[in-house]
Amino acid sequence: MSSYETACRYFDDAARLMGLSANMRRLLLTPKREIKAQVTFERDNGSIETSIGFRVQHNSARGPMKGGLRFHHDVDEDEVLALATLMTWKTAVVNIPYGGAKGGIAVNVHDLSVGELERMTRRFVDELHDVIGPDKDIPAPDMGTDAQVMAWIMNQYQKYHGFNPACVTGKPVELHGAEGREEATGRGTGTLTLALLERMRCPVAGTTIALQGFGNVGTFAAQYLYEKGAKILGVTDAQGGLWNPEGIDIPRLLEHHAEHGHLDGFGEGEPIDNDSLLVSEVDVLIPAAIGGVLTAENAPHVRAKYIVEAANGPTTPEADEIFEKRDIIVLPDILANAGGVTVSYFEWVQNRQHFRWELSRVRNELDKILLDSFGKVCKIAEDKKVPLRVASYLLGIGRVGRATVLGGI
Ligand code: NAD
Repeated sequence: MSSYETACRYFDDAARLMGLSANMRRLLLTPKREIKAQVTFERDNGSIETSIGFRVQHNSARGPMKGGLRFHHDVDEDEVLALATLMTWKTAVVNIPYGGAKGGIAVNVHDLSVGELERMTRRFVDELHDVIGPDKDIPAPDMGTDAQVMAWIMNQYQKYHGFNPACVTGKPVELHGAEGREEATGRGTGTLTLALLERMRCPVAGTTIALQGFGNVGTFAAQYLYEKGAKILGVTDAQGGLWNPEGIDIPRLLEHHAEHGHLDGFGEGEPIDNDSLLVSEVDVLIPAAIGGVLTAENAPHVRAKYIVEAANGPTTPEADEIFEKRDIIVLPDILANAGGVTVSYFEWVQNRQHFRWELSRVRNELDKILLDSFGKVCKIAEDKKVPLRVASYLLGIGRVGRATVLGGI
């Protein structure tokens, strides 16, 4: 099943329960605009490279569209469409005034020099600048992109449209970025993991965790949960992984990772591969890397009691059904990783007001929004006797549907 078919399947499960008409389902699922652009740039050796860039603007019923930009060799039209659709429900679940979008370039960033990455990014903005902007569609970081890439996007956009830092979020703090944006997705995942554990009356001290992905989201989630007393037993990334039944010393691992860029050579614990990590004996499994990693094949062997989807789309619908039957609770991506887009919203607000918030304010407002959304989702799940994923979709789709009807076609 493709990423988009997965996204539609989750939508359909909720739409059926809501009794949405076929016409309304078609309206809500159909993307507003899809862009596929040639991105040609010069390599350092003088040769010409052509990549394909995508931007899908899914829905703008609740406001300007918002979504990350992914630079990864697996990016294709189907994946970007699926991720844009998820953004529409995600911004609605946390009730921030945006629609959904997503973009990406099919490229292996590890093959590019910094100069090549910059030229490619600027070329993509040349193709997109007319259809993005603070009141239209606001990109942000995702896999393979970071604050530096966002700074180039802002700079290139401003060459066409003049000073306007709110055209992109996730920028460096020194260049109109927000305090707390870099940590926001991982920290938010951590906050919601604690809220879920508390709801299940499971004390965080000593709770065991396995985490797939040690990039932006994974590192901040690990740090937050470690500081709260959880034991991170296993961590993996694209190259390999580390397992320590006594709990990994996360601050030391973060230092090692910052210095070397990988987990190898940490000198503590044993190696573990991604397949073994996903079925390891832990209380909480946090996939924080790529999509589609929890499947019909490995779901029967997953031993975690709780799965917190920090990544977008890590669970296939077949795996989701198996987890439901096995009473494994899944906190879905459209809530679990919504901390990033929420603080992106704070950054956009600050840019528009030319007023800076302190980190403590960012964190407080973020916690308030995430915990309030979590409470609403849990209430729907209890009232309707549905899993948290269905409850999140009911909340998100309901809000987008009402905005669509109120605004008129
Ligand atoms: P990142 O590029 O900073 O890190 C990705 C991590 O995943 C790296 O550790 C990488 O080695 C690992 N990885 C890549 N391919 C892998 C594979 N095949 N197997 C195991 N590990 C692999 O990306 P990120 O920003 O941390 O994003 C991670 C996930 O979180 C993505 O699904 C992304 O869509 C989602 N997300 C990110 C944000 C954000 O603010 N960055 C917000 C919401 C959701």
